[in-house]
Amino acid sequence: MKSRLIKRQTFIAWIALVAISVMPFSALAQTQIKYHTNKYSAQDDVKLGRQAAQEAEQQFPLLRDEQVRGYVESVGRRLVASIPSEFQHPEFNYYFKVVNARDINAFALPGGPMYVNRGMIEAAKTEGEMAGVMAHELSHVALRHGTAQATKGQKYGVLAGIAGIAGTIFGGPGVGQLAQAPFAVYLLKFSREYETEADVLGAQIMARAGYDPRDLANMFRTLEQQGGGGGGFLSDHPSPSDRYARINREAQMLRVNAGVREGREFEQIKSRLRGYQTAPTMAEIQRSGQRYPTGEPAGNYPNNAPSGRVEYPSSRYQGYNIFNGGVQVSVPNNWREVNDNNSVWFVPEGAYGQVNGQAVYTHGVSFGVAQSSNRDLQRATQELVNSLGQGNSSLRSSGGYQRTTLSGRNAIFTTLSNTNEATGRPENVRVITTQLRNGQLFYMIAVAPQSERNFETAFQNIMQSVRIND
Ligand SMILES: [Zn+2]
Repeated sequence: MKSRLIKRQTFIAWIALVAISVMPFSALAQTQIKYHTNKYSAQDDVKLGRQAAQEAEQQFPLLRDEQVRGYVESVGRRLVASIPSEFQHPEFNYYFKVVNARDINAFALPGGPMYVNRGMIEAAKTEGEMAGVMAHELSHVALRHGTAQATKGQKYGVLAGIAGIAGTIFGGPGVGQLAQAPFAVYLLKFSREYETEADVLGAQIMARAGYDPRDLANMFRTLEQQGGGGGGFLSDHPSPSDRYARINREAQMLRVNAGVREGREFEQIKSRLRGYQTAPTMAEIQRSGQRYPTGEPAGNYPNNAPSGRVEYPSSRYQGYNIFNGGVQVSVPNNWREVNDNNSVWFVPEGAYGQVNGQAVYTHGVSFGVAQSSNRDLQRATQELVNSLGQGNSSLRSSGGYQRTTLSGRNAIFTTLSNTNEATGRPENVRVITTQLRNGQLFYMIAVAPQSERNFETAFQNIMQSVRIND
């Protein structure tokens, strides 16, 4: 069973290509920015960022909405492609995720992982304002500010670790209080000088990407109006009035590339977010102390194809909360959670990997929520099955639709057959769906080779354990 996944290598090649195509860009007299001394390698940035991302994702609930995440990623890619060539790093792996938190904030980690709070998207008045904050954060990454600042700190050796990263994001000490501060503070809390550089480079990236760089300045105004007191982006990024003027000064020197069709999609995403319950604040998330198992390192799958050779499902089960606690489920305790872009998988070791840059699963269950225009459960399920067929060309319906129950609700069950993309073996794909109160379609997909009947019992048990609270 194949699952959609962006192929990173292609992604990087694509960035390089776009960067070349936007090169004929003439600047009038834009401010020149230089790297600071840095005793770390770009590869160290990547390593630190990857560790930090894993740590952060255990403590922050991600918004599992592929439409919202995909939208933020598309804005992010446009900006990444517009980073000036001297600040491009082929080693870096930029990716974008949305944190389901109300605070107006965003942060980026060395080497490329970026997290945009849902509150930031909700607060932005235009796509340009949201892009402004992202361009600012990308600039810290491209300029390698985290490790440059750590270089100045001297007292830490290479890769002192990322302990304290989440606390720092939650609102730990600033660079001014470095004496007892963890190393992580260097990676995330920047001096005034670095902040100005990120504003200036951010404005330049905006212009190259076809956004009005003054939107970055406008976002600081919006933040002031909406942010009020408390933590968030403004507390990490103070003195908005001189920033506003400085960014606008830079903007006058920049020619904005032709470009962005703004408006409709941003509004669609905002109205989609209004359909969700209010997000918790970072403080509430921190107080809850909840951990979110991340499975694989953020954004990474094993590069190899799954072997398909797996242990029998354990008869002992482990409970999980998924979709920000909206769904509880128990799975065999020798399976692990793997977060896909738009769904959550529980799989035994050996059952997942990549084929041609796409995630492929041989055994396991997946849970997800699909947008559906259809109120009729069977039609909505048919739509889902059709969309699965688009990524899996050998997927065939092998039975009709049967009524069943899931978490005490009316549900529909259907069986499909497929040829596994990694092993070439015939497999069964069971799809169970039910409707959520907001009309979205909740689904469970169970995959196993047709010859391995011992998985059927596990699938039955998992299906019976599902509890939906919506
Ligand atoms: Zn900053």
